[in-house]
Amino acid sequence: MHRTDRSGPGTGLRAGLSDSGAGFRTNRPAVQRKGRQGLKGHSDGLLSEFRSREVTQSRRLIIVGNGGAAVHAVRAARAAGHQGPIHMISDAAGPAFNPMLAPYFLAGKIPFEACFPFGKDFYEDHHVTCDFGVPVAALDALNREICLGNNKRIFYDRCLVATGASPILPKIPGLRHSPRIFSLRTPRDTIRLHATLARAKKALILGASMIGIKLAQILMDHGMTVTIAEVAERVLSSAAHPVCSSFLARKIREKSVDLRLGCTLDHIDEGAGKLACHFTDDRSLETDLCLVAAGVHANTGFLDPCQVALDEGILVNERLESSAPGLYAAGDVSQGPNPVSGGKKLIGLWDNACCQGRTAGANMAGDDTLYLGTIPHHVSTFFGVTFLHLGDVHRRGDHVRILTNRTSVDGTFHVLVFDRAVLVGVNSLNAVQNAGMLKSAIMQKLHWSDDLNLPLENPTQTQIERILTSLRTPRF
Ligand SMILES: Cc1cc2nc3c(=O)[nH]c(=O)nc-3n(C[C@H](O)[C@H](O)[C@H](O)COP(=O)(O)OP(=O)(O)OC[C@H]3O[C@@H](n4cnc5c(N)ncnc54)[C@H](O)[C@@H]3O)c2cc1C
Repeated sequence: MHRTDRSGPGTGLRAGLSDSGAGFRTNRPAVQRKGRQGLKGHSDGLLSEFRSREVTQSRRLIIVGNGGAAVHAVRAARAAGHQGPIHMISDAAGPAFNPMLAPYFLAGKIPFEACFPFGKDFYEDHHVTCDFGVPVAALDALNREICLGNNKRIFYDRCLVATGASPILPKIPGLRHSPRIFSLRTPRDTIRLHATLARAKKALILGASMIGIKLAQILMDHGMTVTIAEVAERVLSSAAHPVCSSFLARKIREKSVDLRLGCTLDHIDEGAGKLACHFTDDRSLETDLCLVAAGVHANTGFLDPCQVALDEGILVNERLESSAPGLYAAGDVSQGPNPVSGGKKLIGLWDNACCQGRTAGANMAGDDTLYLGTIPHHVSTFFGVTFLHLGDVHRRGDHVRILTNRTSVDGTFHVLVFDRAVLVGVNSLNAVQNAGMLKSAIMQKLHWSDDLNLPLENPTQTQIERILTSLRTPRF
């Protein structure tokens, strides 16, 4: 049996692009289908298969984490018919939080409660036992045993690690957890930052990342003067092609952001209600707050790398299984197959976390479901520009061709990256209407017809349209 599930996470707000290119395949094991028939028949064979299904369904499932990946895993396990115990463990108290919605709350667009899209009744409704407010301190994958921060020990038959990621705090003297230094990931981070919005006048943001730039816009809308310091020589260094980065940097500076590229913070002195931020180029800046948006690291600290294969995250296959038997990983902590490169990539996106959680939950319950992976994809609007990133815009090699149109009169801008005739990456500004189609083209490795004979530099909008039309028509 094959199933393709393209439903989104259902938060009610735009959760990035639809997962048009990704899909699920379900191959329910014969034992499950036969098990159901076994209820009617009475042969020994069918009865033993029914018992085997009963064993599967009474497995003890543990889910570590309480974010999008974790919640979707619980739903999927119950939907797959799992009737045995499900135990969730999270270091945070309270219902599941969606970090992606925190900027909308800070911008005053949604109430704080809307950042908890699954509600507090989810756990009772799904018959889940909760250990919330206490972290997992260690996981022994050989003995299938979890040790909590309060020394409680729990055994599992199947365990999902869905512990997400945490903001990186660069090792810079004076940059530490303090009332004036912020990052944004948890409900607590969100409340702290929100409480300071009305008071602070000047902010330093470390990192011209997607989150850093989005937050710069929000802080400016609250009347703050904002400096962004970025170590790299350009903005959005992982999501944007250099040509697109410089265009965006101009746009950001036009909005009066003090954008400092190639700029490294040396140390911070804290005192008299202010932060004195000193940079390696001898410049200094006095601010009310410093917001760190310099990337994240996967929360894998409680795992033993001798027991579980780790890279940037927990390495998983298309079933979301790690290298350790019975141990799965999903969401921002997992590094799964990348359908385009063929390698494994950590993709920190909400819909990816939810799709992975669903696949892992179904498989832990005895299904055989595959998640074929997705590509990096972002749509974000800041400083009057809608930015689109799809796939790999940094591909290098003799066969790579990069097509840009940077002088469009209508304010749109495209960078299309081809490897031979295959589209592998896209940046667009103010032109997201083709995003779903382009994402599918990348995922499906569709070919661009060479006989279009277009210039690689500065094609007109009409010529870009011809390329997009050509991509809609697969040529194999
Ligand atoms: C500010 C911001 C904006 C974003 N914007 C977007 C966007 O526009 N589009 C998009 O697609 N994505 C966006 N994201 C990313 C998206 O929010 C994540 O990809 C998604 O939330 C990942 O879900 P998850 O379940 O894997 O992890 P998380 O939501 O981080 O959940 C992890 C869970 O594990 C728990 N945990 C951690 N360590 C332990 C431990 N040791 N023991 C027990 N529990 C533990 C945590 O408390 C939490 O409950 C954004 C993220 C941020 C921070």
